[in-house]
Amino acid sequence: MSTLFVSDLHLDASRPGMTDLFLAFLAGPARQAESLYVLGDLFEAWVGDDDPGEPGASVCSALKALAASGVPVFLMRGNRDFLFGPGIAARSGARLLPDPCVVDLHGRPTLLMHGDLLCRDDVGYQAFRRQVRDPDWQAQFLAQPLAARHAFAAKARAASREHQSGMAESIADVNAAAVAEAMARHGVDRLIHGHTHRPAIHALTVNDRPASRVVLGDWYEQGSVLSVDAGGMTLSRL
Ligand code: MN
Repeated sequence: MSTLFVSDLHLDASRPGMTDLFLAFLAGPARQAESLYVLGDLFEAWVGDDDPGEPGASVCSALKALAASGVPVFLMRGNRDFLFGPGIAARSGARLLPDPCVVDLHGRPTLLMHGDLLCRDDVGYQAFRRQVRDPDWQAQFLAQPLAARHAFAAKARAASREHQSGMAESIADVNAAAVAEAMARHGVDRLIHGHTHRPAIHALTVNDRPASRVVLGDWYEQGSVLSVDAGGMTLSRL
């Protein structure tokens, strides 16, 4: 059986086709999986686990049905849905994973990250990340009415587009030293992450040993799914 990985779906009411594709995936191929990992940015925005809106409600129900069918589901926070808390775990039946974390995949320790921590050349973003991951900031934000939270999220997305439009390709990608350091620190020869929307399986050297870095793709034009089993890895499109 295979372990499946997705990330960067950026599900949003403005792109119902991708939500439908993911719901079909959860009701179809995912049912045969050993487990499903969503490595961040499942949603384009997440303003709190108490938001009853779509596509959150449908996706949480579908994840819960998958988990109830016997397929464990794991959720990692991305830079869009960093406000995932205990509420979404209850709504979706998923377990929340810290970023980074190491899991044993078919006997091989593998480092999982969303990927934004690796983009350390983007100093402006890293400062924003520290701000919004601060528990006091989050408590204050979550105390606001839903409408105010949605307005903030819309503004933050516009600011992010502006920030990225003027950015060099290399700054928006992972920092090679950050990758090597993270893998060495966790003693792994395999890393799986998303965030950069540059799907690939890269070969590299960590501590003088061969290693691999797998980058999951986004769900803008089609779905991107990584399948891992004892025999190896396959990165495919839906
Ligand atoms: Mn991201």
